[in-house]
Amino acid sequence: MRSSLIAGNWKMNGSLASVTELVEGIKAGDRGNAELAVCPPAVFLMKVGGMLADSGISLGAQNVCDHESGAYTGEVSAAMLEECGCRYAIVGHSERRSLYLESDQLVAARFAMAQAGGLTPILCVGETLYEHEQGVTEAVVAKQIDAVLESSGIGGFANAVIAYEPVWAIGTGLVASPDTAQGVHEFIRGKLATNDARIAQQVRILYGGSMNPGNAAELLAQPDIDGGLIGGASLKADDFLAIAQAV
Ligand code: PEP
Repeated sequence: MRSSLIAGNWKMNGSLASVTELVEGIKAGDRGNAELAVCPPAVFLMKVGGMLADSGISLGAQNVCDHESGAYTGEVSAAMLEECGCRYAIVGHSERRSLYLESDQLVAARFAMAQAGGLTPILCVGETLYEHEQGVTEAVVAKQIDAVLESSGIGGFANAVIAYEPVWAIGTGLVASPDTAQGVHEFIRGKLATNDARIAQQVRILYGGSMNPGNAAELLAQPDIDGGLIGGASLKADDFLAIAQAV
């Protein structure tokens, strides 16, 4: 039985004052039975990590360096994130892939380095609108996962989370239908099962893309959707908690 995870990706939003208020709101509310995680901007990790101590809410980073340490200006290592209290690190978010040209291979290297540093990577995969319209979603997602399989093997997915995030649904208000999302999640699990059925059954696959309190319950009711990676709606404590309660 897989436990549900509702993770908030705050992206480059907020200030010290607003993230403090957001964490206080999340801590004070009813979070249902799901595991919650929040991924603040890197500069707020220490602050948020301190506030979350003993709360049962996990901390995650929005990215992680593909090297252990050294001359990588602007990057943050897995060991540093671990020291801040992180349990998770998002890798391969579509904004990193499209705006910062992160390749499948770089994402796979970040995935491996997160694990080597004791973090659980949340590997984002998903197709663009053009690819969606061309009907090549499965091929795109398969290629993104194959890059990780090539570098980390199927064993890498024993301690990882996957987030299926159709790029056309991120921040657009468009959401994949529960049937469409379930189909892709089932495809991902089936693909992993050809390598190892047990790991495929255990790995949590989140849906991300304009999930909100109004559409969460139907998406989260699908058999292969094990939670959500939430952008915009995670910036309001009440909305984030309402999604968690929909699990
Ligand atoms: C995201 O950026 O991972 C995301 C899912 O964003 P939103 O919920 O705003 O679509």
